Amino acid sequence: AISPKSIVNDACASYATLEKLNGQVKPALDNLVSSTDFFSHYRLNLFHKRCPFWNDENGMCGNIGCAVETLDNEEDIPEVWRASELSKLEGPRARHPGKKERRQHPDRPLKGELGEGVGESCVVEYDDECDDRDYCVPEDESAASKGDYVSLLRNPERFTGYGGESSKQIWDAIYRENCFQRNSFPHSANLGISPRAPGPAAQDFKHVLDAAGRQAQLEAKRLQRPNVPFVAHTGYEVEDECLEKRVFYRVVSGMHASISAHLCWSFLDQMTGEWQPNLSCYLERLHGHPERISNLYFNYALVTRAVVKLGPHIRRPQYTFCTGDPSEDEATRAKVLEVTQQAGGVPQIFDESLMFVNGEGPSLKEDFRNRFRNVSRLMDCVGCDKCRLWGKIQTNGYGTALKVLFEFENNSGEIPVLKRTELVALFNTYARLSESLRAVDKAAHSVKSEREEK
Ligand code: FAD
Repeated sequence: AISPKSIVNDACASYATLEKLNGQVKPALDNLVSSTDFFSHYRLNLFHKRCPFWNDENGMCGNIGCAVETLDNEEDIPEVWRASELSKLEGPRARHPGKKERRQHPDRPLKGELGEGVGESCVVEYDDECDDRDYCVPEDESAASKGDYVSLLRNPERFTGYGGESSKQIWDAIYRENCFQRNSFPHSANLGISPRAPGPAAQDFKHVLDAAGRQAQLEAKRLQRPNVPFVAHTGYEVEDECLEKRVFYRVVSGMHASISAHLCWSFLDQMTGEWQPNLSCYLERLHGHPERISNLYFNYALVTRAVVKLGPHIRRPQYTFCTGDPSEDEATRAKVLEVTQQAGGVPQIFDESLMFVNGEGPSLKEDFRNRFRNVSRLMDCVGCDKCRLWGKIQTNGYGTALKVLFEFENNSGEIPVLKRTELVALFNTYARLSESLRAVDKAAHSVKSEREEK
């Protein structure tokens, strides 16, 4: 079995293996997120939440590229996502059984409480408080709340022109969350990310970045040879860092790398008005930083494992796809199963059971979860609507992957039932990672052939 430890420190799967797997998964994944109403739409609180950490009024992006086209007319919203459909689920029979009760009786069948044919994946959430097993702050899905409906196909993640101090402040705050305090377990919402009191965290991070630079030079050599083992290290080697802290860093750095890959791959050429790859953007943000690319592949392995783990449960009655039409529900389910089966092509891609077990591991879990929740809260500080939309989807997607991996033991028999937004975010995040792998590979080939031509 390939453990996260070996993914972090040692050779395991090769880049080539993950790329081959991606070649098999990508067609089914693209089909799922582009051809089903359930997976190509999202409902979230895009405009009505304030940044909980600082005043972000000056950080708003006014570019047209930052705008999100929301679905404001009921008839434009696919039926599975309409408020009228959601409110149907709010009747007493469909009432959510309640988190406490679910924790006490996780195996109790939901039928009867949720109503015939209503799966957990269709349930309306009544509050935006975290379940204690959530790694991110859920969006308020209740029909009464001000939710915004978006078609993800009509709002693709790409270059927006958002940048400067506002985005820097957010990335800095995200990385600052990585500074776990030994033997300290924060419960407060914004511990460690008050911009007015950055504390020692920024300083601590510097040695991490220096080490990352050294590690990157080593990896640069490896990347020239695609068949050498994929060394999924943390991007930095600090001897006394435990596995869990390294994994946290890799997840956020891999997410950052994936966002960079999309914006460089789908870049607006302002001379021609065309969307096309920008190789110098790729060279600057990714090619010269192989540890970032390694973290991207790490995230691909981690999310793949979560999707594979979910696979056997997708057939269960807890998973319905909210269409109200059994044949359409079945068609969506078949597309999800196609992805989970293809994703299982490389057995033992990531062994999550080795995390949070030894040393300070168990006590770090809560800390890890709280920190990831803070990363998700930071998305409300993003000053560009389009970036906020995809930032929220991707933090929810990683949060869901972490929840599936670390909150449901492999042999416990417990079913990881997910909310609709979690399920949609997980598969769209997987699709984004899959696209990033493809983009990085193509960009690397273009750079190579450009250099050979010279
Ligand atoms: P940044 O990408 O802002 O990076 C800041 C610093 O972080 C770098 O100087 C470097 O030291 C470090 N760093 C960079 N990458 C990594 C990594 N992978 N791992 C570790 N450290 C790293 N822009 C768009 O055009 N489209 C989008 O969809 C979009 N979505 C965004 C979503 C979020 C949540 C945020 C916070 C920003 C988003 N942006 C988006 C902005 C984009 O990420 C950059 O911040 C912006 O393009 C400015 O880039 P930069 O060159 O200043 O470096």
